[in-house]
Order: sequence, then C-alpha cells, then structure tokens
Amino acid sequence: MEMIFDSHLHFFTREVIRFYSQQSPEFSQLKDPTDCASDKLGIFPPPENPQELAKLWVKELDRNKVSRAILFGSILGEQASIEKAIKLFPNRFVGFQLVDPTDPAASDIVEDIVSKKLSGLLLFPALHHFFPDDPACVRLYELARKFKLIVFVHIGELKILIQEKLGSASPCIQEFGDGQRLGRILRKFPEVSFIVPHFGCGQLDGLIEPAREFRNLYLDTSSSNSWLQHNSKFSNLKELFENVLEEKAFGIERLLFGTDSTVFPRGWRKDIYEIQRKALDDLGVTSTDVSLLLYKNLEKLVTRF
Ligand SMILES: [Zn+2]
Repeated sequence: MEMIFDSHLHFFTREVIRFYSQQSPEFSQLKDPTDCASDKLGIFPPPENPQELAKLWVKELDRNKVSRAILFGSILGEQASIEKAIKLFPNRFVGFQLVDPTDPAASDIVEDIVSKKLSGLLLFPALHHFFPDDPACVRLYELARKFKLIVFVHIGELKILIQEKLGSASPCIQEFGDGQRLGRILRKFPEVSFIVPHFGCGQLDGLIEPAREFRNLYLDTSSSNSWLQHNSKFSNLKELFENVLEEKAFGIERLLFGTDSTVFPRGWRKDIYEIQRKALDDLGVTSTDVSLLLYKNLEKLVTRF
C-alpha cells in the first residue's frame, strides 16, 4: 500500500475564516461574519472547536488513504488550535505555526509554540514585510536550531486566495520573498532544515549553490503550481519534476509531497495528488523513489530528533 504524508494542509478553523472575513469590506461590519463569508466562498463554515475540525480532517484523510499531514496554523496565534488537533491525533498530525518575525514578542511566541509541541515555523516574508535574512529572522533561526524546529519560508509570489475572493486588498509586498536572501541563511544555519513551498515558485536560483553544499533545503510540491504558467523556464509539471530530480541540490530525497488543502466540502485535494503522480509515472520514477517523496522523506524529517 502506498503511504502518503501530506506536507501542506491548512487548518482553516473558524478563527481563520473570521480573521479573513473581518478584513473584507463586504463583511467587516458584522459581529461574526464567518457564516456569511463562508457562504460567499462556497465553503462549509468550520465547526466551533478545533477538535471537531480535526475529526473532520481525519475522516477525510482516511477516505483518501492519507496516513499523516502537517497542519498549518496559517494566521498568527493559531498554535493553541493546532495543539488541540495534534493532541487528539498524535499519529496523524504534525503542527507548524505562522510567526511574524517583526513582532517584538516573536521569541516568546516561538517558545509558546515549542511548549505546545509543534514542530515547525511558517514564515511569509511578503505578508509580514521582512527579508528572509533580516536580523529579526536570524533570531528565530537561532531558536529553530535550539529547539530543533523545521523552518518553512514562502519565497516568490505569495497569493492569499481567500483574501482575493473576499475582495480584501492584498497586504503582500512580493519583493520580500527573495530566494537569494534565504540562500545566505542556508549557509549560516546548516543544522536547520528549511522547506520552501511550491518548488520555490520559480525562485530557486539563489538557493541552489548553498543547497548543494549543505543539503538543508527541501521543496514541497504542493498546490496547482500555477506559477509555471508565467515567467517559468519549465513548460509543465513533468519538466519541473525532471529538473529538480536531476539537480544535485535536491533529487528525490529533498522533495516533499504536498497538496495545499484548505476547506470543506472540497476536502483533501486528490486532484493535485493525481496530477503529480502522473508526472512521476510519465518520468518513470521508481516506486521506491515515489515512496520517498510521498511519505518517507517527511517522516524522516519530523522524527529525526
Ligand atoms: Zn498553502
């Protein structure tokens, strides 16, 4: 049986939907706009408590024969919700939490995340307006090294689809998602494992040299990888896979399968899995290698310490 460990699953609690709907010009006047915003988005409003949402996700993962997933706390301060989900299903979920390094309290927040037994930090430079090698981030990488946390950094273009759909202005400044400046960090923190999502969104150039040398960078394969359609030297997913599989900095052992699943009723994004699986089959990737990408690489990464 093929085992799957999804490296990229957003845990969209009620709090997350409320946060985004309160920013929307259409719903910001309402006391709790979550239900109205969910209706507009065509999604089921998340249940009242995170445990119920975790149960829905486990059912959905079971239905799709997915063994495990990394759950993302994708707005600030969601670590308590993620903690509840991973406590209830310790064999199914591993937790990562979004942190804003420019927050003066960021170090305390990281310690709180550690105390709640989460395993990784999510950094979104374009969203919170910092470069990946800013001094504020360096402090967080030091904490990641100390507490053995994995660090996920979104480089390249960042789109927050839920914000777009709710008509909110994007807070993102894309220039901050600078891969070159993450490259310097790979050299400075060889003991820390970094993940960049969506194969690096076409911004891998500054990362390849240090990643060849230190082997501390992983690529998640998640989402539809729509960036391939513009400004990309790869014409399709198969070509992209072929390139990263041959690249010494990556290869099969540095790729982590992910979907970027978010909401119900859509649930787990089997479509994304099928498209990636087909690209790998077309390339003739062996089943042993496929199992590294789908499960074993990530399992090794999260149980390393
Ligand atoms: Zn995502």
